[in-house]
Amino acid sequence: MTTQHTPAFPTATVLGYPRIGPDRDLKRALEAYWKDPREHPASTVLDTLAQLRERTTTRLTQLGLTDDAAVPGEGFAVDHVLDTALALGAVPARFAADGFRAAAPDTARGIELVTTLSRGTDHLEPLEMTKWFDTNYHYYVPEIGPDTPLSAHPESLVSRYRDTLRRTGTRTRPVLVGPVTLLLLSRPETTDDAPADPLARLDDVVGHYLTILSELAAAGVQWVQLDEPALAADGWAVDRAEIVTALEAAYARLTHPVHRPAVLVTVGYGEAGEDALLALARTDADALAVDLDRGDVPSAAALEAWGGRAVVGGVVGGRTVWRTDLARAVDTLDRLRAAAHGPVAVGTATPLLHVPHDAARETGLDPEVRRWVAFADQKVTEVADLARGVAHGWDAIAEPLAEDAEIRAARAAHPATHRAEVRERTAAVRPEDRVRAASEERRAAQHARLDLPPLPTTTIGSFPQTAEIRATRAAHRAGRLDEGAYTEAIREEIARTVRAQEELGLDVLVHGEPERNDMVQYFAEALDGFATTQHGWVQSYGSRCTRPSILFGDVSRPASITVDWTRYAASLTERPVKGMLTGPVTILAWSFVRDDVPAAEVADQVALALRDEIADLEAAGTAVIQVDEPALRELLPLREADRPAYLDWSVGSFRLATGAAGTATQIHTHLCYSEFETVLDAIEGLDADVTTLEASRSGSGIVAGLAAADFPRDVGPGVWDIHSPRVPTFEEVAQRVRHAAHAIGAGRVWVNPDCGLKTRAWPETEAALDRLVAAAVTVRAEL
Ligand code: GLN
Ligand code: ZN
Repeated sequence: MTTQHTPAFPTATVLGYPRIGPDRDLKRALEAYWKDPREHPASTVLDTLAQLRERTTTRLTQLGLTDDAAVPGEGFAVDHVLDTALALGAVPARFAADGFRAAAPDTARGIELVTTLSRGTDHLEPLEMTKWFDTNYHYYVPEIGPDTPLSAHPESLVSRYRDTLRRTGTRTRPVLVGPVTLLLLSRPETTDDAPADPLARLDDVVGHYLTILSELAAAGVQWVQLDEPALAADGWAVDRAEIVTALEAAYARLTHPVHRPAVLVTVGYGEAGEDALLALARTDADALAVDLDRGDVPSAAALEAWGGRAVVGGVVGGRTVWRTDLARAVDTLDRLRAAAHGPVAVGTATPLLHVPHDAARETGLDPEVRRWVAFADQKVTEVADLARGVAHGWDAIAEPLAEDAEIRAARAAHPATHRAEVRERTAAVRPEDRVRAASEERRAAQHARLDLPPLPTTTIGSFPQTAEIRATRAAHRAGRLDEGAYTEAIREEIARTVRAQEELGLDVLVHGEPERNDMVQYFAEALDGFATTQHGWVQSYGSRCTRPSILFGDVSRPASITVDWTRYAASLTERPVKGMLTGPVTILAWSFVRDDVPAAEVADQVALALRDEIADLEAAGTAVIQVDEPALRELLPLREADRPAYLDWSVGSFRLATGAAGTATQIHTHLCYSEFETVLDAIEGLDADVTTLEASRSGSGIVAGLAAADFPRDVGPGVWDIHSPRVPTFEEVAQRVRHAAHAIGAGRVWVNPDCGLKTRAWPETEAALDRLVAAAVTVRAEL
């Protein structure tokens, strides 16, 4: 059903490219502007964006994306979801009420608006942030309610296109989040408590997309990309059938007018589903990109319905740092070509936003490991190579195919990827290794050993990471501070933290984690099987980036990691000091994990290393040990059907890590960054003695959920939101403690903050903890 004028789709493309810049250029520009807008006005951010767009376009062209419209035309300041929301003029009512008006994103006012929405004002909370599908990227949740005024703002998309064309001579392909995904990801503001239909504004929204498309066509844009990854996920507030109907209606309108660019619809992050593909096929959409990394080749029926239109086979994964298995990609592309009725292009499965820029810069990485990985630039080369094969036959890429096979074989044969002692140990794990004594027996033994008051108080682990501590660690890393002086400095910090907790009157103390740069990297650096990078930054949200470690080999623990610090802290006080570890699921979730061994087995290897660490902590006299799993919910698969298997291995690995802990050792776990109501069964499955959870921002939701589920273990729903420097009033904290004690039962409740305190400063930490302890004491007296 394509019109006569549909331009050919490029033979090779990527759905998106890292946008933070190889040296985190955008981060620097944004943060400089946020800090001092007089010295670094919004125009400096716009200049950086334009330079990055130019660099990306030139780079992608050099790497082989040479056709018109092959390069995605991104280039927004903070977040792609927010960018699309602003192109639709969607300023949330609470900001509009404060005088904020819609603005095209790439203007000084637009940069100001993005800043306000993502950072808030002194009296307006910023937009909520939440995870982008099952990745570590967080987007800003647009607020689009029944009354939110909408208006089309195509100016920035047009100016990006024109500016890049002028600078590079390349015609890029503007990218927007598609209307269905945008609304599903948004939060409908409601005037009353009735849950609003997230798709209620679809008609209005599509009208504004139409305006944008026609403006883009007028500017000479040939192809536009609309991303609809929501089709690959379950769990929306509306039924699947309704979503698919809405999809068809939206794209029928979007692809109807004659004067528009050709439309590429992409479904990354998993399989689109035949229902959605058939619906899209009934519209005049011009090309379709599917994820063939996580999903399979679409059904024959779907491809037949799609007819002679182009399909982009997303065979190069955008989620891991491993080289694409080219032989497998060739096979997949052959199957797609055999079943497709139109041209097949080669692409990535998702945008490359989730991987760093360029592995060639990682000169500090073991050269052998460096050959195994492919960051964004290497993945673009893979796409270009495969596209040459599609065009000229696989013989034309015999060389890269042979090289990949050789590297793959070398990797498989490398001793670090297959260590007999590690394999034997995981193979020998028995079901009973994941089982502790009955919980009531543990509870009695722990009560006798710890002798804590009701509503015991504790913290989540880290204390303020002052500039001084960071300087100490940096000096040590750079070799400017020797081992002895470093140990002395960290011990001083631990001593100060222990003293502060004693003075505040907390019941279970922590050492404060001053030695840790990051809760995962710290363990990755201490375990065998991990590598760290120098430039491997990926965007987490806004200007924030993380540098995940690479888990490339079999994992083992050459020596104890945390015991000395914990023992030192314990030597300073009579009160129990909690040992502090990061759990296996979180270590996997925040690393780039090898793809040649099932995740379940990798998790067990990590779990066994932690199991040994727990044994060492116990031997050193530690009575309370916390194993953090903030990422447990994060890895939950997008499709319901995949969830049981995931929960089985993730919960199982936590239990393997903690399964040998003695009856009188109290195991804590900590969860945050998510809503947990839907996974309470899995949390119970962890079988921790105490679970502390982020709770104060979600209102009383989690407390009600725990009460309703009759959660059978001790819990500490956070009573202090540590995400801002604001110190809660005594009454607020007391009210939260009282509420939890009444709803859940005072005998089961702990009193603690929402999360670790590393981003806080000492004054507010002491003030808030003082109120937290006072609230616990007060409510205790009321029991
Ligand atoms: N123990 C860690 C800390 O306090 C937990 C961090 C987290 O939950 N993200 O910093
Ligand atoms: Zn936390």
